[in-house]
Amino acid sequence: MTVAVVPASFDPITCGHVDIVTRASRLFDRIVVGVFARPHKSVMFSLDERVDMVRESLAHLHDIDVVSYDGLTVNFAADVGATVVVRGLRAVSDFESEFQQAALNRKMSPGLEVISMFASVEYGFLSSSLIKEIAENGGDIAAMVPAPVAKKLSQRFAAETSPTASRG
Ligand code: ADP
Repeated sequence: MTVAVVPASFDPITCGHVDIVTRASRLFDRIVVGVFARPHKSVMFSLDERVDMVRESLAHLHDIDVVSYDGLTVNFAADVGATVVVRGLRAVSDFESEFQQAALNRKMSPGLEVISMFASVEYGFLSSSLIKEIAENGGDIAAMVPAPVAKKLSQRFAAETSPTASRG
């Protein structure tokens, strides 16, 4: 049985992430989606919120676990019995950091294979940060994120712009 991990910050999960997990789930016996607890970049959503959104967005898939993790991805993969790490590759700009990460991960854990899957054309332009920016400015993000995420983003920005919220 081949287990693969799909690690990311998921702040929040987008249709691009869902596409990668869905396609990876056809290639491996089990997928463990790892929500990275403490990314270096600042996050909009708490760890619990990010995990909940990932769970709700992937509820239609089978043989998938969603867990949070801290520390090195290679240790997380070993803990869950995974021999493969799956990452998405959107553009040339993703390549350099993904290549570097993959090389370092394999150096730390020689038995671990890192696989990059090309983003689907329709999602290749999506990123969590741009989606947050569009949502914050009132743009329509319905086609870019799963429904539970669209709801959460609109609640978040509605709360931030309501007079009650601004009075503190
Ligand atoms: P981080 O690397 O900080 O965890 P993300 O959560 O945005 O950042 O992304 C994690 C992984 O998901 C990366 O491999 C990234 O290339 C991939 N990814 C992000 N957005 C997309 C997308 N629209 N299509 C395919 N892969 C994506």
